[in-house]
Amino acid sequence: MDNHWAQDIEICLEYGDRREQFGGAAVPPTFGNSLFVYESMDALTNAVLNEQGHYVYTRGTNPTIETAERKLAALERGEACRCFSSGMAAIAAALLNSVESGDHVLCVSNLYFSTMELLKYLGKFGISHSVCYETGAEAVKKQIKPNTRVIFMESPSYMTFRLTDPRAFSSLAKKHGIRTIIDNTWATPLFQKPLLYGVDIVVHSLSKYLGGHSDLVGGAVISKKELIDNLFTKELLLMGGNFSPYEATLLLRGMRSLPFRLETHQANALKVAEFLESHPNVKKVLHPGLPSHPDYELGKSVLSGYSGVFAFAVHGGYRGASHVLDHLRHIKIGVSWGSFENLAMSPNTGSNEQQLISENIDPGTIRLAVGLGDSGKIIADLEQALDNAQ
Ligand code: PLP
Repeated sequence: MDNHWAQDIEICLEYGDRREQFGGAAVPPTFGNSLFVYESMDALTNAVLNEQGHYVYTRGTNPTIETAERKLAALERGEACRCFSSGMAAIAAALLNSVESGDHVLCVSNLYFSTMELLKYLGKFGISHSVCYETGAEAVKKQIKPNTRVIFMESPSYMTFRLTDPRAFSSLAKKHGIRTIIDNTWATPLFQKPLLYGVDIVVHSLSKYLGGHSDLVGGAVISKKELIDNLFTKELLLMGGNFSPYEATLLLRGMRSLPFRLETHQANALKVAEFLESHPNVKKVLHPGLPSHPDYELGKSVLSGYSGVFAFAVHGGYRGASHVLDHLRHIKIGVSWGSFENLAMSPNTGSNEQQLISENIDPGTIRLAVGLGDSGKIIADLEQALDNAQ
């Protein structure tokens, strides 16, 4: 583990808990109240005018959510953070804060499909986008347009699990006056700290590893204070996609065990990936921690660990993937990932095969989220499914 690990454990366990402020509460209390009252109109006016530093209304600030925001900013080594009602709300806020009508967003490789759908939707406001499926800085540089304002990365990329070098892209973007945004959900701040590599904005879905128990939906944006202050008054307060204090409590509980869960996800997933690589019915395994992965060396220099989600491909496209998925007994079929359970799914719906091919996604792809249970049981389940589904 890198030299951030011990500090990150402390942050997850109790940084920002402010026991002295909350009557010695062992864990941060859940402030479920929607508003905060003041003794005079003058005091309220002062608070409203300086809402970032005062509790006024939970759509903006709330002590429980603020504790989560402090921890997330500290883990990313960022100056400030704001939480949102979902990962998509956070991504939308980061993008809308960064572009105006007429601007262009350049996406590096495959992004989460709803992020792509959001970018298509933003077309109606005159915001265009394009995707560079090559992950090298030279290829991306060629696709920068005069109106490119954002380079958006997700590393590893959606379903193809290619890595992006945030150091190369942040220096390229800075030369062109472009903002960089990275979706760091997969690595979590524990395994990758993109702000230290010069990236401008980190976004997270808190619904995955950070929450970690399949019981909350949330998102976060982390960046410099000036940017987050601006985003607070615009995209958070005006669009109102705030996180809930009740879910912030679940998040804080989940984060206390994050380092220890990640260690198990990492070890289990590597064992499962190695097994899959040896199975004759598997076409390829897309796990950046395997030496066979095209970005294995890059991974060693930008990541300090691997989480539990990766993909593999079988022959036969939709039918091939569905066959294997339908034979699974222990691993559940479902969307999302990052929790204790084992989950599998295919991006192939049977009608989007050509689209997947155009996006470099093998039609026989199966995404696997390896959970916290015994890896032997997961491997045995995959083995019988792959053997029986021929
Ligand atoms: N980013 C990634 C990489 C995701 O996989 C997801 C959801 O699956 C999101 C963002 C969106 O997060 P949420 O579902 O919390 O809106």
